[in-house]
Amino acid sequence: MNFIETRGNDGQHPQSVTFSQAILSPMNSFGGIYVPETLPTLGLEFLQQHLQSNYKELAKAVLDAFDLDVDASVIDTALGLYDEFDDANNPVPVTKVREDLYVSELYHGPTRAFKDMALQPFGTVLSDLAQKRQENYLIMAATSGDTGPATLETFKNKANVQVVCLYPDGGTSDVQRLQMVTEDAANLKVIGIHGDFDDAQSALKSLLSSNTFREKLKAKSIHLSAANSVNFGRIIFQQIYHIHSYLELVRQKAISLGDNVYLNVPSGNFGNALGGYYAMKMGLPVEKIIIASNSNNVLTDLINTGKYDLRNRSVIATTSPAMDILKSSNVERVLYDFFGSSRTKELMLQLDSENAYELTGAELEQLRTVFIADSCNDESGKNYIKTTFDGGYLMDPHTATCFKAYESCRDKPLVTITYSTAEWTKFSPMIAEALSNEQNLTDSEALKSISKTAKTVIPDNINDLFSKPITHPMVIDKKDIESEILKFLG
Ligand SMILES: *Cc1c(COP(=O)(O)O)cnc(C)c1O
Repeated sequence: MNFIETRGNDGQHPQSVTFSQAILSPMNSFGGIYVPETLPTLGLEFLQQHLQSNYKELAKAVLDAFDLDVDASVIDTALGLYDEFDDANNPVPVTKVREDLYVSELYHGPTRAFKDMALQPFGTVLSDLAQKRQENYLIMAATSGDTGPATLETFKNKANVQVVCLYPDGGTSDVQRLQMVTEDAANLKVIGIHGDFDDAQSALKSLLSSNTFREKLKAKSIHLSAANSVNFGRIIFQQIYHIHSYLELVRQKAISLGDNVYLNVPSGNFGNALGGYYAMKMGLPVEKIIIASNSNNVLTDLINTGKYDLRNRSVIATTSPAMDILKSSNVERVLYDFFGSSRTKELMLQLDSENAYELTGAELEQLRTVFIADSCNDESGKNYIKTTFDGGYLMDPHTATCFKAYESCRDKPLVTITYSTAEWTKFSPMIAEALSNEQNLTDSEALKSISKTAKTVIPDNINDLFSKPITHPMVIDKKDIESEILKFLG
């Protein structure tokens, strides 16, 4: 299967590229992103066939349907990483929380957040492609907390790939920071920046677009790639768990095969929701996809009013920081799918120049045949954490945003799959406050408090962080980033 561009082709670049080209070099003609030329049709027969498949077997079959230019043995090795999740037989448990609300837990991997679902296998695939081509790649990431640890974890000690990860000093939780600064591998560099996430991200962007920086990399024979969620190498792995969760509901007899369900997704860059949308297009029986946002509710506005408007907005820091996003990159793939490349290009250029765009009434109606949306502020999220815990289920603040949308958006009483994207251990101070009204605890104190209140254990890979040596103590000013990266690259 080949990949084409969301904003059309300039005649200078290839009309279409293979999967491996799309993931090694995600840059293309007009600043758009790659999408599959067509999607495979899976349908009910496929679901029937895989009712008894385990996660890896299902994943293999879905990837086979995409006919990727990656060796089967590499895919097997990549999918083998799901064996390292908490339960090798069931890496994505689905738990009943209310009569018709089931939570699909995507956080049982090494860094305790859903980024592992895609980044774990992605690292193996990218490193293998780089080795086969005898090329060296640099991956640069700016993180507000979850992408950084997951990116470092997947590439540590992988051949032909080096990773530089920038994080805002003081802008992540202790656990997230420790997950990064205690990583110990020669191909990884973690740098704290004086400033906030936007500073880290804009520093990264200006480096990526700097010709002199690119020339210096070229002189070292280093290619640039990216591990952010515009890389289709991540999206490809994010369709599988939607299909798995559906089959799990059939196995648990919550639904019969063929019944429609709602997918309920806490959204930021829209990668998770896009995976659900593609799964639906391939034949998964989905009624609608419910998009949950926090107070940074651009997606709610887009889906409810057709307006994507950043003019009077700046990012609001919330207790669900992985969703503190205003420019949601994968929305572009949905626009392309609904409205085609020339309209997508027009809308995206408008967003660049005017900081806003507006869909027509007919376009909005089309979008709403698939997506519905609501947003949830911190206070309300905190209440959902408390009441849901009182009902017997402990969840993190990102997952909590879904509960409001679940209550407000559904127009049919269908079973809903709500995605849980992080373990409670990653956002413990806020959860301790929700559960027992303790204010301003450190991560370490909050972990202990929740573990006592909820009678649950702190996983070893979180506990161990507090005693591991810090291998990346560096915290610097933005202006020194380039020279530090070049020093690291040698
Ligand atoms: C990344 C992330 C999200 C947002 O997912 P998108 O695919 O970017 O929409 C939600 N919750 C957590 C915990 C995350 O790490």
